[in-house]
Amino acid sequence: MVKRFYVDQYVDRILAGDRVVLSRAITLVESTLPADQDLAQEVINRLIPHTGNSVRVGITGSPGVGKSTFIESFGNYLIQEQSKKVAVLAIDPTSQRSGGSILGDKTRMATLATNPAAYIRPSPAGKSLGGVARNTREALLLCEAAGFNVIIIETVGVGQSETAVHSMVDFFLLLLLAGAGDALQGIKKGIMEMADGLAITKADGDNHQKAEQARAEYKHALHLFPPAPSGWLPPVALCSALENTGLAVIWQMVQEYLTLTQKSGFFTRKRQEQNLHWLHQAIRYALEDRFFSHKLIREKLPDLEKAVAESKTSPFKAATDLLKLF
Ligand code: GDP
Repeated sequence: MVKRFYVDQYVDRILAGDRVVLSRAITLVESTLPADQDLAQEVINRLIPHTGNSVRVGITGSPGVGKSTFIESFGNYLIQEQSKKVAVLAIDPTSQRSGGSILGDKTRMATLATNPAAYIRPSPAGKSLGGVARNTREALLLCEAAGFNVIIIETVGVGQSETAVHSMVDFFLLLLLAGAGDALQGIKKGIMEMADGLAITKADGDNHQKAEQARAEYKHALHLFPPAPSGWLPPVALCSALENTGLAVIWQMVQEYLTLTQKSGFFTRKRQEQNLHWLHQAIRYALEDRFFSHKLIREKLPDLEKAVAESKTSPFKAATDLLKLF
């Protein structure tokens, strides 16, 4: 059971950068109790004027590509060299099934986790990717209100989670390995098209040469895509978390992207579109929730499901009948 503060206390303490209260507020967001949800919504709504002032960076790549190692080095670089406060959130749709989140493992990012200028929150567990993504989006806003000015959202490079991350970040970075081949890495073309920047990881030791070659190949591949609406051509960087190289180049890449898109107005337009996307998502979730918890629907649904499964009723007729009851 979540201990409830009054809304004012949450708001004041989060604005003061209190991490314990920030964590509690995120726990409220993740709670399924209606009272917790109401409180969370009120807190977030009060904090909205204090959000939006961070750089939101999404990071994806196949398992083993080096995401957590990279985020740890990159996070430490941003704190030490750029005087940033960094929050790391995750969307991991596999956390539900495995019972423990691979992105939430406490031993990951050990040096970043103990840095007072960093805040790391594992992926929320949830029934659906939509729910998990929504919680992460709300956690992002809370972290911004608490003064974190770079928010990194990590996800695994498989499935639909990239689309969810893409709908909440300013810059989307795709991490790739040299010499593994696209098919092997499970990177779908769609994910490459979503990326604002690519980075070849583990470009160190014997691997450096291969990484250079991979960079040339990816650069070529990117030229074949239709131009992005932002007018930006995604660069390809090399990095090594082991040798701590490439971090400044990647941050520079993000800065250049921001300068270009802020000047053209694309940045603001994209954020506005993302806000509207989340409004519509929220409406959809709420409607679905209400529909399936409606007394009459709960009573009638099993029979209709049976009839539809046995092809005795058309799914469309059944849906229309249920909606009339609702
Ligand atoms: P994730 O699954 O994408 O989060 O990958 P991890 O960050 O857990 O890294 C997977 C493996 O790659 C680990 O054994 C790391 O030590 C190794 N690794 C990560 N970054 C680098 C790097 O820059 N250079 C080298 N040589 N190995 C790395």
